[in-house]
Order: sequence, then C-alpha cells, then structure tokens
Amino acid sequence: MTRLILATRNAHKVTELRAILAAAGLGHELVGADAYPEVPDVKETGVTFAENALLKAHALARATGLPAVADDSGLCVDVLGGAPGIFSARWAGRHGDDRANLELLLAQLGDIADAHRGAHFACAAALALPDGTERVVEGRLTGTLRHAPAGANGFGYDPILVPEGDTRTCAELSPEEKNAISHRGKAFRALVPVVRELVA
Ligand code: IMP
Repeated sequence: MTRLILATRNAHKVTELRAILAAAGLGHELVGADAYPEVPDVKETGVTFAENALLKAHALARATGLPAVADDSGLCVDVLGGAPGIFSARWAGRHGDDRANLELLLAQLGDIADAHRGAHFACAAALALPDGTERVVEGRLTGTLRHAPAGANGFGYDPILVPEGDTRTCAELSPEEKNAISHRGKAFRALVPVVRELVA
C-alpha cells in the first residue's frame, strides 16, 4: 500500500482527507505528520495560500521520502481586499487566538452594511513528491459575514460566515454539512485525480 503523508498535526484534517481518498476508491495509507516527530515545522514564508501549501508539502516530502500533501487556508474579505488572507490565524497578533481574531475583524467591519459583507474561505492543497514534482489545487466557500457570532461548532471564523444559499453560519452546520461544502473539502476532492495520476 502506498503511504501518503499529510502536513498537519490536526487529527481532524487527517480523518477528513482519509475519508475523501477512501470514498474515491484510492487505497493509499494516509498518515499525519505527527507520525514523523523528528521532521521540523516549516516557516510559512509564502505570500499566497498556494505558495505556503507547496512549501509545507515539499519540506515534508524531502524529509520523509514520501509523497506529501499540505494545505493552507484562510478567510478573504471582499471589502478588505482579501485580508486577513494568509494572516487569518494571527490577525489579532497572536497565532491561533480564534476569539481575538474574530472580534478584531467584526470591529473593523462594524460600519459595513450587509450588501458589502461578502467573503470566502479559501484553501490550497498541494501534493509534492520527493523528486520535486508538484501540483496545487484550490477550493472556496463563498458567503457573507454576520455582525455577531452564532453557533458552537467549527473553529476560527466559522461563527460569522454564512455560506451562500444558507441562513446559518458555518458554526451552526454539522461537521458533515460543513465538510460537504467547505473550501478544504473541495480542495482535497480536487486533489484526488492528482494523487491518482502521480502516486501509484
Ligand atoms: P490553517 O490553514 O488550517 O492553518 O488555517 C488558517 C486560519 O484560517 C485558521 O486559524 C482560521 O482562522 C482560518 N480558517 C481556515 N479554515 C477555516 C474554516 O474552515 N473555518 C473557520 N476559519 C478557518
């Protein structure tokens, strides 16, 4: 069985991609990067989601000698010209402080009316082989931003993004509903034919 490694220490991402590969009939064994604790984390020095996903995938493929998948994602707000974008996880200054990030964004958008609150989650998913071969694909979840958070599921900016065609925020969707429409789900599903083509 061919082993594929995913550049994340987040077990939920591993489970999600594993389910997507299995649903597509691919028999690869997917492991998370925590199976290789000696591999150092990569500095995300890219300026796009695709660049950062590729940086992470290449570093992991080089270090492990395995085909490696990595993703990078964030929230892009129309009226902010695509910000927070690659800075989504540290918009309020401290990496991973979801609550502070969300509150700062809501404050910045305080005077912006509903008609101008368009935004999308974006995700780039990259596959890199140890020989340097690379591919990257992208997925989006488009919607509008609420004025106040709602819902207890999910993470990050989920409590304020209402997907197009719905009235609930992402944090009010079940994990299955979110995976079916999410930027990450779309990017991972777009990666399936790439894995089929490049990883025997
Ligand atoms: P990462 O690519 O998983 O590191 O995500 C970067 C940041 O983007 C997260 O810390 C969140 O702030 C935001 N983000 C990415 N995907 C989502 C999502 O599905 N829901 C809410 N926030 C997200």
